Amino acid sequence: MKYWLYFIAKLLVGGGLMFALQYGILHLYPIPQQAPGMEEALFLHDAPFTFLVLALWHLDAAVLVLIVIDQRRRCRTCLHKLIMPVSTGSWGRILLGRPRTESICPYGHGTLTIEDLQITGRQLPDWHPHDGDIWKELESYQARK
Ligand SMILES: [Zn+2]
Repeated sequence: MKYWLYFIAKLLVGGGLMFALQYGILHLYPIPQQAPGMEEALFLHDAPFTFLVLALWHLDAAVLVLIVIDQRRRCRTCLHKLIMPVSTGSWGRILLGRPRTESICPYGHGTLTIEDLQITGRQLPDWHPHDGDIWKELESYQARK
């Protein structure tokens, strides 16, 4: 739940910033003198304004992509960025072990597996929550030694 609320909050903040930027462009752009009555129809009639709006749309898309990429690389439990990406599998032997990248939560909440090879369409990243605290498990292993 916390994971999705954080995603929605990032989308709202990003959308708010982009809306404010678009509002600023629409209201601060100087209207050309030779086109009275064209204040509402600057888009597609004024080249600099049109390119400015198109650039803003590209920026909107880039911000959305960055938000989604950032969200995918976060722990589902504590929202920290996942660390220690490890490549597993082999590109030469895809039948025995397909290439994939595994990242782990720094606090041991789970592992994210991302398929590097997308043959049968887009495969979503796979999150495996860890049952216990893996760091305590490692400490107990060290204590037993
Ligand atoms: Zn975590």
